[in-house]
Amino acid sequence: MSIKPSTSRPALRPSSGTCIMAGAGGCELKPSNNPKNRHRSPMEAARTSPRCGAQTRSGPPCMAPAVNGKKRCRMHGGTNPGAPAGPANGNWRHGLYSREMLQMRRELNAARRGIRDMKVAKANSG
Ligand SMILES: [Zn+2]
Repeated sequence: MSIKPSTSRPALRPSSGTCIMAGAGGCELKPSNNPKNRHRSPMEAARTSPRCGAQTRSGPPCMAPAVNGKKRCRMHGGTNPGAPAGPANGNWRHGLYSREMLQMRRELNAARRGIRDMKVAKANSG
């Protein structure tokens, strides 16, 4: 058995600066606290990734890895964007909080602020 210096053993590379295998013939560099350089194996990442919480037919949650940025796995709707927004779908009541209404209110409030500031400026000057 021969030890190749290049592939598959990044922890023993002296220039890495992130070695956590001090001693035992490894490097003598201390592990860095910088999260960017911290050694995190792919299996560690896989183990600690968010899990799907969908209830299975046997009772406990699914626990398959959730889709990035979602709470469910690919088999339990994690890749599904959901129903289209609008009066025909979802929890729609009256549209008071629809995207268009929120945008309109934002613009109206900005205009109101502008008028108020003009009044204040006029009162201060005159
Ligand atoms: Zn799932």
